[in-house]
Amino acid sequence: MAVKTRNLIKLRCENCQRVNYYYWKKKGAEYKLNLKKYCPNCRKHTNHKEARK
Ligand SMILES: [Zn+2]
Repeated sequence: MAVKTRNLIKLRCENCQRVNYYYWKKKGAEYKLNLKKYCPNCRKHTNHKEARK
């Protein structure tokens, strides 16, 4: 059975809106992530924000 205490969150590049990373977040966590990560589409480091469906 799937564990339902965590949500799968996407990290989307702010520059090109492409989803490059996924991570598991505890359910009920209120913080939002804004990370600088490498985007293969932009071919550089850009800000990645979490995106819901
Ligand atoms: Zn990008």
